[in-house]
Amino acid sequence: MKEHKYLIVKNGMVITPDLEIRDGIVILRDGKIIEVGKRGEVEEPLNANIVDANNNYISPGLIDIHVNGAMGADVTKVDNNTFSTMGSFFIKHGTTSYLGTAITSADNDFIQVLEHARTYMQHSKTDGAELLGIHMEGPFLSQNQSGAHPREFLSLPRPDHYMQFLEYSDVLKKMTLAPELEGSTQLVKDLKDKGIIAAAGHTDGIYSEMIPAISGGITHATHFFCNMSHFRRDQLKRVAGAVETLLYDDRISGAIIADGWHVGPVLMNLLVKVKGVDRVCFVSDAMPAVGLPPGIHNIGDVKAIVENGVARLPDNSAYAGSVTTMDVCVRNGINQMGLSMVDALRMATQTPAEIIGVSDRKGSLEKGKDADIIIMDKDINIDKTIIRGEVNYTRK
Ligand SMILES: [Zn+2]
Repeated sequence: MKEHKYLIVKNGMVITPDLEIRDGIVILRDGKIIEVGKRGEVEEPLNANIVDANNNYISPGLIDIHVNGAMGADVTKVDNNTFSTMGSFFIKHGTTSYLGTAITSADNDFIQVLEHARTYMQHSKTDGAELLGIHMEGPFLSQNQSGAHPREFLSLPRPDHYMQFLEYSDVLKKMTLAPELEGSTQLVKDLKDKGIIAAAGHTDGIYSEMIPAISGGITHATHFFCNMSHFRRDQLKRVAGAVETLLYDDRISGAIIADGWHVGPVLMNLLVKVKGVDRVCFVSDAMPAVGLPPGIHNIGDVKAIVENGVARLPDNSAYAGSVTTMDVCVRNGINQMGLSMVDALRMATQTPAEIIGVSDRKGSLEKGKDADIIIMDKDINIDKTIIRGEVNYTRK
């Protein structure tokens, strides 16, 4: 008979959305959570290894649904080491699972990413953060809101072009597109048929241009407020642009880059006020230079200058992703937005899990879920990271 492997995490405050347990205990077996409760009220298996939280916080691992790379590894220019490099960097910052994001590039770059992800995900590992799939950010984006995306690769969606990507629906989990483009409504329907999340982003539309694709099945908005049009005049009448349309429509959840540079606190709070902490998640949108010293770094085919905690295009026309991590986003949620720790953590755990459809196994500390757990202090400094029952990071 196979011997079970037990791990007990205790002596800390368990915070999992909707529940806080002082002197809490989480019992893990074979990579899954089998019990969560208060010490003394749950039975502790003998012969278990113990992780002492030292009176710190015990939280679900953070989930980043928009991240382009780390430590020089670039999803858009993937190689055999990309996902393992990213995974071993993220665990130091509390991220236990993520969607790798590829920005607009040549078709073959996208195919390479999807191929590599498929191979990598088939060999389930627990030594770093888990790759949950790929987010294609492009190439069906607005020319006017392209941000750091190279314009020469942007195109209008046509089935004979995009179907090659949709064949990878086992690994392609999300696609960001501009809803107003000719062909987007059909693309959204095809994505929905394949179970791929359609997200609005890099969009220059107004309400009437966007609503057919939204009604076709768009459920999410990528990096809210960044590269989105505002209300404008249609003849003399003012009509909703992308920001207002996506804020207004209850079918749309949102993501926000909470690095403290991309979006100011009033706008971040406005989004949460309209949609709630259960419909808005934090994302890092980190570019590949996160974890590296400042200097000139690439994201896909694009050069960016990284200095003073942010990446921007050399001509200063746009940011080129952030150099932040999810622990910092949670900290900014508390310090800049004034959120409670519970709400800020929710926006980095259960909410992103719900948005990408993995909340049956990720995002909260509950019986039956994957044992992805972080131990951290009140300032969100990560002490320990546990991936599917294995302690794979301890702060020195
Ligand atoms: Zn973007």
